[in-house]
Amino acid sequence: MQVNEERLESVPLCDFCERSDFRLWFDAGHIKIVRCQHCGLMFLTPRLRKEALRDLYNRHEYYQDVSPASSKLIHVPFYVEMLNRIKTSAKASGSLRLLEVGAGGGLLSKCAALMGYDVTAQEISRPGIERLRAWGIKVIDGDFEELTDLGCGFDAVIALHLIEHMQSVRVFLDKVYRCLNSRGVLILQVPNFGSADFKFNSEIFSKMLSLPYHNFFFTPKTLGRYLKAVKFRITSVEYNLPFWIRGLSTLFREQGIGRDPGQDPAAFEDVICRTVAHQRPGSLGREARQFLRQGIARIVPGDCMTIYAQK
Ligand SMILES: [Zn+2]
Repeated sequence: MQVNEERLESVPLCDFCERSDFRLWFDAGHIKIVRCQHCGLMFLTPRLRKEALRDLYNRHEYYQDVSPASSKLIHVPFYVEMLNRIKTSAKASGSLRLLEVGAGGGLLSKCAALMGYDVTAQEISRPGIERLRAWGIKVIDGDFEELTDLGCGFDAVIALHLIEHMQSVRVFLDKVYRCLNSRGVLILQVPNFGSADFKFNSEIFSKMLSLPYHNFFFTPKTLGRYLKAVKFRITSVEYNLPFWIRGLSTLFREQGIGRDPGQDPAAFEDVICRTVAHQRPGSLGREARQFLRQGIARIVPGDCMTIYAQK
């Protein structure tokens, strides 16, 4: 990858333990991934400066080519499951206040709004903000790490495939902790660098590195330490299925569910409404499928992990 050196910056200290002894782990030319010798955190240095990254995120191509996942209907059942779990753990009545940080294509925020959440979505890219506004979602327009007027008292904060893009994970977690209410739930989803998928599948390897967009590369252990340091209680760590099982499951995928909702809004709303109806908590089939999926993923974790934590 060709990068203008003026657009790069060095990271002198590990974001977690603030030590400076790290070793090269992956050389990608101008940018490199290092591993902290003290705490094991892997991160990018040198990395692209924030302004340079912002230019890239503002391009429509970012959502079309690099990060289309946030707008694919295939994810709707997982989002609905996640949102139902927040309702169970929050044990609150009425409309729950949800903040989605880095809402991207906006699909999760839209699902939450349709399920009765009071949703606020933060986003930095123009294409993402335009889509969220078109869907009638309340938008905080700006860089999460720089925002000072986020508000507080949220029942839940969700950040899917976001914190690996941050300049400092510690700053991000401190900020989230302050804007949650006393029993607030945090859900993070990140690539799992402890997985066999990552080690043995070259296509997944380069997709997970996602250079130069990803600044951090977590294992369950390194991310877990971060959360505990900020005083979050981890309630669950879940993994997706390994790629060879996912490949089989696509054979049974519901027709049309991989389409982008932007191309067919009516079909999108219809899929969400049907999914919500099929995924009511307590449904025996749903519980059994979830139990089986999580059981397999615990033995052979896939390339993506979801951490549920509570204040
Ligand atoms: Zn460290």
